[in-house]
Amino acid sequence: MNTIPVVENRIWQPEFECMERSQLEALQVSRLKEAVARCSTLPFYKEKFKEQGITPDSINSLADLRKLPFTLKADLRDNYPLGFLAIPKSQVSRYQGTSGTTGKPTWTAYSASDVERWADLCARFLVSGGLTPEMTVQISFGFGLFTGGFGLHNGIQRVGAGIIPLSSGNSARQVMTMQDLQPEVLICTPSYALKLMDDILKGDIERSSIALQHAHFGGEPWTEEMRERIESGLGIRCWNNYGMAECGGPGIAGECAYRNGMHIQEDQYIFEVIDPDTLEPVAPGEKGEIVVTPLCREAFPILRYRTRDIGIIYDDGDCPCGRTTRRMSRILGRTDDMLIVRGVNVFPSQIETALMQIKDVSPHYMIEVTRPKALDEITVYIEMEPEFFSDSMREMQEIKQRIDTAIFGTTGLHMKIELVNPNTLERFEGKARRVKDLRKLVD
Ligand code: AMP
Ligand code: ZN
Repeated sequence: MNTIPVVENRIWQPEFECMERSQLEALQVSRLKEAVARCSTLPFYKEKFKEQGITPDSINSLADLRKLPFTLKADLRDNYPLGFLAIPKSQVSRYQGTSGTTGKPTWTAYSASDVERWADLCARFLVSGGLTPEMTVQISFGFGLFTGGFGLHNGIQRVGAGIIPLSSGNSARQVMTMQDLQPEVLICTPSYALKLMDDILKGDIERSSIALQHAHFGGEPWTEEMRERIESGLGIRCWNNYGMAECGGPGIAGECAYRNGMHIQEDQYIFEVIDPDTLEPVAPGEKGEIVVTPLCREAFPILRYRTRDIGIIYDDGDCPCGRTTRRMSRILGRTDDMLIVRGVNVFPSQIETALMQIKDVSPHYMIEVTRPKALDEITVYIEMEPEFFSDSMREMQEIKQRIDTAIFGTTGLHMKIELVNPNTLERFEGKARRVKDLRKLVD
């Protein structure tokens, strides 16, 4: 078993991250007023503000946030490409986009000071997750439009560490670079880390030939069980960070040394958790849709962005790290990838949690949803670890039974389980697409 490094508790901008709560909230209110003023120059908000009689003076407390309209992905699309641009184009320092590979991206833009602030936001989670200026970081996130590449690049530069801007793809080259340049830190999606882990563990590669100590993952949902797999497989510490292009990219929330949730960067963002049906706030500590309001973004301001991501904000007091900011859970799913099977709501992450509890199966799986008759059915394809793959029907049946029990434990449903040969399911270099919804085709 590899030993996983421990880290010191380090804080990049204590003046913001550890602000006294009442001061922090006063700062949020004054920054929210400014954000409303910036938005009131945009036709989209101008019209809504006029209808509802909103001006920057309508904002005098945090509760006044609820007077403001929500913004949806569809609103950005309807105002494509740059309907939310609030500064002259001549002052835009950077354009980035969402990470989808098909269709038109959702664009976002940054002023020079937006880029500066963003670098510090990324530095915050990198430093709390073990990055020091002496280290070298391999960025295996895509650089083309996806906010992950350049966002992290600027954050690492701010910390003063060495950067290998490798981008994603060509895993042989990724592993070779780890051996040749000895980076201590890896940045990628958790699913790409799985692929790289396979190549390292199953290839002819000595673990001692690579220097990795930490990995920072974001861009897609992953589970605590997946973290344990990667940490023990590679002997590294894996950290979670969260963000989305529409609100500025990574750095919106990230873990501290105690890893009990992701600290929300509340001096620059206000988070709400709502019931996606009623649009009312959920009770404290309940799960719901995360709504994000960036407070400082000059170039592309947005209010109450409905992320479709499901999570929880912990309201349980201060963290031992000394930060005063609230923490959020992992993303538990998305409102748009929730499956409803025989009336039960299921998120792919619940299935992942169950699968990762069983050591004979690999971390590679695929979920297929069909509707053979009137009812939805889920089939879970899962690769076996080569050493556990067996010709014995009885052994295979026994593993299936254990998987079934585990999945029933996390979802309350029995699903079809197909054990497949090692190395037969698709691998991912960026965000994984593990759910295949064939219902429309079957219907
Ligand atoms: P994009 O800005 O297009 O790259 O995608 C942002 C989306 O990626 C978010 O709304 C989440 O759905 C997902 N995402 C980003 N970071 C995480 C994370 N740490 N955990 C789970 N989902 C994430
Ligand atoms: Zn903390």
